[in-house]
Amino acid sequence: MERAENNDSAGQYIQLPIALLHEWSSAATFAMAVEITAKWLPHLIEGTLASVALFNDDHTELELFPLDLDREFPFPTRVPLEYTSLSEVVRSGSVLHTPDISASSLPEAGPLSQLGIKSGLCAPLVSSGKCFGSLNISRTEVDAFSDDEVANFTGLAEVLGATLSRLQQLETERNLATTDSLTGLANRRSMLDLLSVSLNESPETTHVLFLDLTGFKQVNDAYGHHTGDEMLRRIARRLESECSPRHRVGRMGGDEFLVLCGEDTCQTSARDLGKQLIDAATKPLEIGSVVLQPRLSVGVATNAGGQTGISDLLAQADRAMYRAKRSNTTVVEVDDELRREGELVARIDRELERAVADDEIEFFLQPVRDIRTGEILGAESLVRWNHPVAGFVPPPLLIERAEATDRIDMFTTWAIDKVAEMLTATRRLNPAYHDKQFAFNLSPRQLGWSDYVETHVAALERHGLIASDILIEVVESGMIEVETTAESTIRALASHGVHISLDDFGTGHNVISYFSRFPIDAIKIDRSLIAAMVDNPTVRTVVKGLTQIATELNITALGEGIETQHELDACIEVGMTVGQGYFLGRPLPFDAFNELLAVEFPGQRCANAA
Ligand code: C2E
Ligand code: MG
Ligand code: MG
Repeated sequence: MERAENNDSAGQYIQLPIALLHEWSSAATFAMAVEITAKWLPHLIEGTLASVALFNDDHTELELFPLDLDREFPFPTRVPLEYTSLSEVVRSGSVLHTPDISASSLPEAGPLSQLGIKSGLCAPLVSSGKCFGSLNISRTEVDAFSDDEVANFTGLAEVLGATLSRLQQLETERNLATTDSLTGLANRRSMLDLLSVSLNESPETTHVLFLDLTGFKQVNDAYGHHTGDEMLRRIARRLESECSPRHRVGRMGGDEFLVLCGEDTCQTSARDLGKQLIDAATKPLEIGSVVLQPRLSVGVATNAGGQTGISDLLAQADRAMYRAKRSNTTVVEVDDELRREGELVARIDRELERAVADDEIEFFLQPVRDIRTGEILGAESLVRWNHPVAGFVPPPLLIERAEATDRIDMFTTWAIDKVAEMLTATRRLNPAYHDKQFAFNLSPRQLGWSDYVETHVAALERHGLIASDILIEVVESGMIEVETTAESTIRALASHGVHISLDDFGTGHNVISYFSRFPIDAIKIDRSLIAAMVDNPTVRTVVKGLTQIATELNITALGEGIETQHELDACIEVGMTVGQGYFLGRPLPFDAFNELLAVEFPGQRCANAA
């Protein structure tokens, strides 16, 4: 690069835009264009301490992009604007020409004079009437800038200002198109683009982490969208600060985040990163007066064999994340079983509506018995989908897919009606069943549906049932530490007289608190505890304690998943009176269940009831 030999700046101005534009065109960002401008300034006009200054929006601070070929830049590059003469440029909106710095009252006159700087020029960079920065240069002689030079320098600043502001605008538009406006992370589109590049360039080493917040809807419901938004922003910051710059973090929408691991990541380090992210993101979060305990699940997927496309890879990561959520763990990696499950999932997603319409989905009924006398006291309805080709669809997977594809409300409306209809038919067939209930399972998401109470009540009415005829089973571990729509639904149902039972009791945290928190009628002590208490006296003592507390509170304690005589004996020994499990009766199709009732309540069957 040649330094300008004389002050014939008009000729230089022609060269400047060409050289500048050449470099600008390869500059990826506005900030780079600013640096390039600063670099070119001394080529245009002889001087020293050339710089471009950018001001923040409220004109309180400036950032300097210095370039001087002869000397180190002697000032800090980020300073309050009011401590500099540039505040005068902002105020006046015109060029500040100081022919004799030592005789001036500039705030930086002292340090500049010490450096031998005698005169200076600062011209505003203006966009849409607003000064967003300045172009600066100085000389070591007093009164060194001619009138022509001052005028040309001002003109140069005008051109640069207009061009830089256009560049900034383009960059903002580009950012808006690729950035998630709430969190500032890369948005879905941008992440898909990056993923596509990664799959093309390094297919064998593309790893993604799919993260999902549990209970986010409940936080929104309980504390409002403002808190929900802030929670997402803060989680985004935590994820970002935990990832090194070679990984990319993006928000895929809602409460879902994606991390695309850098090229040199191996499978083990992707998994470790998942754990690290969970540790960082699940620390308690204080938002205003609320302290939230975020919960996240991560699915880790690798482009195994280099065969996977974007949507397959994301679907696999999503599946792994769901499995993590379902199994109450945090990080799950895609394995062969999950890949196979992916095929079943695709089929469920395609065929759920048809299967409901065709009555291919049905409910089995599993007896609930008095464990001392063996008498059937009621039954739990359990959804069954035996797909003609794919075979048995696990109920939790069916519910999960209905939720994930937003067909859960449709399913729930159909399901409660079906179960109500089955109860009425059972009572017609077996009058001995007239005072017994069916239990109906509802996931937290189903309970979070604001129309559920109305739907439930309408189904009961349609089939001539009263509130206590259908008991609702709620998974205790699905609740979080805040009042939620699901909780309001439970309270509303209870106020209608619906009985509430806490399912899988003992698997969540802080289980005792549920006794006082919900209007519950029964707890179903989880199968894992029932199995463990046979050989483990400590577990038995805990279960005994839970049973006693429940009984004192007039809450029925039911033993779930009783599979052996030993387990049954243990349940009786700790004071339970009600139980359910393969040992007491498997879930049965409607007809078989009614046959069983006919056998167990002989002489009470209504011959022509069907
Ligand atoms: P859950 O409500 O705790 O239901 C009990 C599960 O344990 C049932 O599995 C039942 O078949 C099984 N089971 C019963 N006795 C025994 C036993 O002695 N040993 C063993 N190993 N298992 C036993 P299923 O039908 O596969 O349902 C699994 C879960 O799926 C249910 O757990 C429930 O959370 C959910 N689910 C089932 N049907 C529905 C439904 O209609 N709606 C909703 N939201 N969830 C449902
Ligand atoms: Mg249940
Ligand atoms: Mg259960």
